[in-house]
Amino acid sequence: MTKPYKKSDALYELARIPGVYVPSLYEPLYSNGAFIGLKPRDSSVPERIRKQSADDIEFSTDFIVSPNTLWPDFYFLEISRGCLYNCKFCMLGKIYANRYRSHKTVIKIAEKARELTDKMRLVSATEDTHPEINRILRDLKDMGFQIIVGSQRADWVSDDFASYIDNKTFTVAPETGSDRLRRLIGKHMTNEEIMDAIRTVRKDRLDELQLYLMVGLPNETPHDIEETANLIRTVRTTLDREGYQHLKVRASINCFIPKPHTGFQYERQLTYDEYKSVIDRVRELVGGLEGVEFTTMDEKSVLTQGIVTRGDRRVGRAMYDALKKGDDITAWKSITCNNGSTERLFGRKESQWIAPWSFVDMTTTGIPATYIARVVKGVDYATK
Ligand code: SF4
Repeated sequence: MTKPYKKSDALYELARIPGVYVPSLYEPLYSNGAFIGLKPRDSSVPERIRKQSADDIEFSTDFIVSPNTLWPDFYFLEISRGCLYNCKFCMLGKIYANRYRSHKTVIKIAEKARELTDKMRLVSATEDTHPEINRILRDLKDMGFQIIVGSQRADWVSDDFASYIDNKTFTVAPETGSDRLRRLIGKHMTNEEIMDAIRTVRKDRLDELQLYLMVGLPNETPHDIEETANLIRTVRTTLDREGYQHLKVRASINCFIPKPHTGFQYERQLTYDEYKSVIDRVRELVGGLEGVEFTTMDEKSVLTQGIVTRGDRRVGRAMYDALKKGDDITAWKSITCNNGSTERLFGRKESQWIAPWSFVDMTTTGIPATYIARVVKGVDYATK
């Protein structure tokens, strides 16, 4: 009989695998209450955890298909992981290497899925940037699937793409209505491209058009806020002019949260009161236009997302305290995080600040830049 592993031995074995982080084998170091790093408890474990990326895209294909879910009877098929782009506020382009499932593999999985259902939800950061997306959609359609996709890159939506999808909601993520600010945050698309995408998509099949927006972005000015309201108004009035009064416009406006490993990780997050006053301003500027609905974050979401994002190892204890104190806003506001108030936690950090995630090395992307450049230009993945 094989001798059972002792838990401590197993943890050491795991810690030696590149990319695996075992918290209990590291001691957190603090100076005057501020986190200053992690010290390995043993010289056999690495000081820094280096991101690893699989070369191939052998991720899971087994999903539960059930009528009793948020997406009844849908099969979720992941066609890519990571993102080609590098928007400065987004973790996705930083933490995952960008990889695609080939058309051949997608169709092979879909054939098995078709025995279970005729409803397919494609999963990807931006399905429309997959180099073989039109072939994939056409073949899935030929197999009799109803196809739903997520949020789209407005600068990639084509007639073909729009003709294959069965979404009732079409979602684009302009982030802001200001071309200037969009350039600064690294989201390289223009209001004109966003409006083109809205014109291209088959609106006769839609119930709703959703805009993902953010406020509190670094370098945002009152004029940018006006531009965001202008974009919402322009989308609404364009739909009305084209005869799509029935189509609802949903402006989903989130608070910018400075995410780890992003170009904005040291930036400041708005407090809830600041966020709310910007939202009120957008609403005021949009006016009482019929057919526009807003989705915004509540106070607890703004607070807890910021706490989880910036908190160091002490965040678990702090959250436990908030739950014990009643889990209401007063409780969450009163907790101490990273040895300070939540307002201090959300403040802008100096470049010498040692982030709680600084021991994780994200520098490897696992995908050559030349390959990414070819894909961006639309070279077919199958010809690689
Ligand atoms: S915001 Fe969208 S396009 Fe930009 S990096 Fe993230 S997933 Fe990619």
